[in-house]
Amino acid sequence: MTSATTPRASYQRCATCGTEYSDTDASPRCVSCGGLLEVVHAPPVLRGADLRAVFAARRSDGPGSSSGVWRYHELVMPNAGDYVVSHPEGNTPLLARDRVSSYAGVSALLLKHEGHNPTGSFKDRGMTVGVTQARRIGARAVACASTGNTSASLAAYAAQAGIPALVFVPAGQVATGKLAQSLAYGARTLLVKGDFDACLSLVQEASERLSIYLLNSINPFRIEGQKTIAIEALEQLGWDAPDWLVLPAGNLGNTAAFGKALREVHEVGLIDRMPRIAAIQAEGAAPFASSYRDEFTTRPKVRAETVATAIKIGDPASFDRAVTAIRSTNGVVTTVSDAEILDAKAVVDASGVGCEPASAASVAGVRRLVKEGIIRPSDRVVAVLTGHVLKDPGALLRYHQELTPPPAFANPPVEIEPTIEAVERVLGSKD
Ligand SMILES: *Cc1c(COP(=O)(O)O)cnc(C)c1O
Ligand SMILES: [Zn+2]
Repeated sequence: MTSATTPRASYQRCATCGTEYSDTDASPRCVSCGGLLEVVHAPPVLRGADLRAVFAARRSDGPGSSSGVWRYHELVMPNAGDYVVSHPEGNTPLLARDRVSSYAGVSALLLKHEGHNPTGSFKDRGMTVGVTQARRIGARAVACASTGNTSASLAAYAAQAGIPALVFVPAGQVATGKLAQSLAYGARTLLVKGDFDACLSLVQEASERLSIYLLNSINPFRIEGQKTIAIEALEQLGWDAPDWLVLPAGNLGNTAAFGKALREVHEVGLIDRMPRIAAIQAEGAAPFASSYRDEFTTRPKVRAETVATAIKIGDPASFDRAVTAIRSTNGVVTTVSDAEILDAKAVVDASGVGCEPASAASVAGVRRLVKEGIIRPSDRVVAVLTGHVLKDPGALLRYHQELTPPPAFANPPVEIEPTIEAVERVLGSKD
């Protein structure tokens, strides 16, 4: 490790009442007030250009630097030592695609594609740190509630660490690819007859009673890992901050992580200007957007309904942290309909990039905010694609071959007789 490594220990702090806990305390929440915890690190010894140089050097450093999370360990978990459980993960591309830019109405639009992570979603960035922490504290088992991607990621990292994993998912509401992964990686998978919000309260009770380490996104170490989506994107842009970072918002862990990342990189002089966060919710699962419209004076709970299952959440766990993220970045929160999500997804898919439905909420959100005059067509925008196109083949096939009338960008398969004439007829026809 280089001289940028800080000797002083990190600690956990309740974001509500300020009570401090050691960084190896396993409590999922503040014991005195029930508030969410956050991890605080000592400021890195190096700052600004010096710290940038350390990060840049690690890109070509070989083993140990191959992870797009652990390359930034001073800002994530400075003292992980030999406990690190890394696939590796991160190092996801920033993609420019004309078709997507013109659809969204922003010429300088870049897509940060987190579907390129090992289990196909950004959850791996949080999970590498979360499972590393589970090893540090000697957890005998780990658990999470999930709409699918967290469980896929937990299952993979727990398998690598050799720690038993228990996942709680809403029965019948998890996309095929995600459920398949959780089974494949060997997690004990519980199909709960209830929605995600029911799974989350059940897993919290189970983790307390059975002393299983909880790795939902209320876990502050997952937030530390997820910060690196924003950090890595900024580094890819030469630390020249864009005007906007746009992401889909469900349980709000990622929105919280982006806010914490931006505040911290600004503090240590890695960027000199804050990008604004735009958090995008599905219309049928938009408690955070309603609260934003009320200037965060309300905290509604809703019965969530949307085709984008990864953000189908009615009572987001990281609500307060996400409010801080929006306030501290002069951010905005808005909604898009399921039809807008699916059309945006079809455009992203047909550009050759591809993503799962929830991910496309970010592109649909950019389009919406441009129409509303909040994002200017000349702004520099990074939209995060949170998950891989193969996560939800069911939604894909419905869009392209089942809906009537066919949606705007449907590309239905054509059944033919096995003759060359039939092929010619298809090629000759306009559609
Ligand atoms: C988890 C997830 C989200 C939502 O992130 P939150 O932190 O819950 O707001 C969005 N898209 C995908 C693909 C996800 O897996
Ligand atoms: Zn507290």
